Amino acid sequence: MTATGSPGPEVLAGLDIGGTTTQAVLCTADLTVVDRTEAPTPAAEGGRAMVDTALAAVRRLLGRTPARLLGVGVGAAGVVDAAAGRVLVASDSFRDWAGFPVAAAVEKELGVPAYLDNDVNAFLRGEVARGAVAGEQHVLGMTLGTGVGGALWLDGALYDGPRGAAGEIGHVPGFGELPCTCGGRGHLETVASGRSVTARYAERTGRTRTARAIAEAAVRGDADAAAVYEAAGAAVARALLITAGLLDVTTCVLGGGVAGAWHLLEPSVRRTLTAEPPVSAHPLTILPTRLGETAVAVGAAARAGAELEVGSTGPGPLGVTSGHRV
Ligand SMILES: [Zn+2]
Repeated sequence: MTATGSPGPEVLAGLDIGGTTTQAVLCTADLTVVDRTEAPTPAAEGGRAMVDTALAAVRRLLGRTPARLLGVGVGAAGVVDAAAGRVLVASDSFRDWAGFPVAAAVEKELGVPAYLDNDVNAFLRGEVARGAVAGEQHVLGMTLGTGVGGALWLDGALYDGPRGAAGEIGHVPGFGELPCTCGGRGHLETVASGRSVTARYAERTGRTRTARAIAEAAVRGDADAAAVYEAAGAAVARALLITAGLLDVTTCVLGGGVAGAWHLLEPSVRRTLTAEPPVSAHPLTILPTRLGETAVAVGAAARAGAELEVGSTGPGPLGVTSGHRV
């Protein structure tokens, strides 16, 4: 099936291929989501099965909303070659994913241009295009999930760095002495990830709970639970202080499951940001995600739109932030 010849409005598709769930959205050129769907990611079955699941999701959406598909963006976990559209490094839970030519496989099946981004980069693209930091030119993106992901938006474009590792704020040291999943010590991730919230709470109480259950306990008055989230919030704020001092970036958008407990993070975030203003004296701002679970998929669609220069001529959010470079 080729969707390009279909009647109807012009749309972009965005895909978020996560470790457990694959999500697909259909967006208008200005990135308004018109429909979405999701399916379990068959991570253990290999790259081909994962892409087939993603393609089936896009076809399902096009079946419900007849439209002319202009392009597809894909956000995926791991290290990706965003220019070549290929996964470079993936976690062990994904079989035959490292090296998989995702963009080429999607282009071949759907007959339209496709682009691949790291999921944290896609998250930040989404929030800059249509989310909590729409239209901002300089933003630090952080995702507090199982681990802590980071991405940088500088001068209105994603900044990848020479090796694609720019913005990896989760693995910056200076946050204590605890060992990190990456082999380092004292990284932000050791206090602000979901896994760390669980570990730090277990150290205090001897009880193993999910980050979500710990957030619920904090709301019910569990002082240890509240202290773990307070420490995470203070660390996230210090991460922005470091970024502001180094790059003069004073805005941050937070996503991921731990950021869902924003009400628990916010007090210590505010306290820390106020106590240590940057040399510029410009106020620092940390905002929770506005797009929530759709941020990665919308951001992936934004990449496709920017590459294809769709919807970038008007005064809309994408026009402010995209330009010709991506
Ligand atoms: Zn680390």
